[in-house]
Formats: sequence, C-alpha cells, structure tokens
Amino acid sequence: MTADDPARTLTRHLRELAVRRARLRRHRAEVTGNPAQLRYLDAVISRLGDEIDHRRDHLAIVASTGSYQPWSHCHFRVGDFARIGGAWYPVLHAGWRALTVPPLDLLGERRHHPNPEHGVDTGSVAYVRVYGRRRAGRVLHTPPPPEGATCTCRVTIPTFNAEFVPERDAGLCTEPAVARLTIRHDGTTCGCHGICLLTDTDAADAASRAPWVEVVLLCDAHTYEHTAGNGATETAAITFEDLT
Ligand SMILES: [Zn+2]
Ligand SMILES: [Zn+2]
Repeated sequence: MTADDPARTLTRHLRELAVRRARLRRHRAEVTGNPAQLRYLDAVISRLGDEIDHRRDHLAIVASTGSYQPWSHCHFRVGDFARIGGAWYPVLHAGWRALTVPPLDLLGERRHHPNPEHGVDTGSVAYVRVYGRRRAGRVLHTPPPPEGATCTCRVTIPTFNAEFVPERDAGLCTEPAVARLTIRHDGTTCGCHGICLLTDTDAADAASRAPWVEVVLLCDAHTYEHTAGNGATETAAITFEDLT
C-alpha cells in the first residue's frame, strides 16, 4: 500500500464528498423562504449525490479488477460525446488536462466565456468532472479496463455425478474481457433476494451489510451466459457495457 493507492485515494475522496453533502443538507434545512436558494442547494446536493455514486463505482472497479484508470486524454477523441453535469456534450478537443466542449449548461445557467472578446465559445472541463463517454452509440460510464484485462468470472465444469456436486470450480477465467457488468446490490432490485446483503457471520443478530456495488468483467462466453440467463442484459440495478 502506497500513498497513491487508488482505493485509498477514492475512499478519502468519497468521505470528503459525503461530509460536504451532509453539511449542505444541514444548511438546506435551515434555509427558509428563499425558493431560488433552495433550488440551487437541491441542484448542488443532487450533483454531489451523482459524484458519490460515481466514485463508489470506481471503488468497486478497484476491488474487482485490482486496477483503475481515471478518464484521461487517451480515452477521448473528436466525435465522442462526454457526460458532464448530467448532459452529453460533443468533444471538440481532448487535451492533456481537460476536454474542450461547447459552452456548459450548468444548473440551468449557460456559462459563457467571461470575456466577450474571446472568440471561441467553448468550455474546458477537467477529466474528473467527466462521468461517461459515448462513442458510436456505445456508452461507458467509467473508463474501460486497461488493455489486456481478462474476464473476472470463475470457470465451472459440470461433473459426472451431478447428484452430489453439480459442478466444480476450475479457477478464474483467463479469456479477454469484452463486456462489463456493474451491479448495484440492494438485495431487491438486483435480484439476489437479500442474499447479497447477508454478512459472512452466521450469528442470528448479524446486521445485514449496506448496499454495495459489484463490477464484473465478462469474456465472450460469459457474456453469452449472462445474456442467456437473464434475457435482458440490463435492469434498473444492472448496467451492461459493451467494451469492444
Ligand atoms: Zn444483490
Ligand atoms: Zn469468462
């Protein structure tokens, strides 16, 4: 574990965001009789909520695949769309530090360049503010796994005496990943019927764990298995992303 361990950085960042949101919520409860200010606070709180969800997804990626690369210039090119503040913007330029997009429409207010002499009407957005990429109709909410990432499923082999042990574990699949599943486990909408929220301890008074996010990388065969088993690839709790 080093100082720039991504999981640790993300956890710290998440905690800061949660503290900021709690402070704003307290502040909101005290504001009375100013609808414009309330609307503004609600918008900021909801954006913080989006950011918290997004960082949680990143943390789940670190936990499941062992690595995580934030969005950067190598993930974007002209013609892509980037998700910023809840809307999609065409990418005009992918710089080292930021994306150039048309003027942002944040909180219902168009942000023009402060200097009217400035000819080009564009906005510059740091990569940490980018929450997705759309390229040729394919949406990625978080950056793709690094080159050469493999399937994170386990291979199971049917046994001959299915009566006793229907299948045996043959270890991790080593096929290249072609899709990614993000599952938001809340016990109900994820389809686990509460099993995913059980703690490991068998104690009767064991509290169930908090909702969590699981990220799974799928190879061709495991994508087929998922699609065949579920009918629909996506549900309210499951995001399916094509990585090809
Ligand atoms: Zn679940
Ligand atoms: Zn596989």
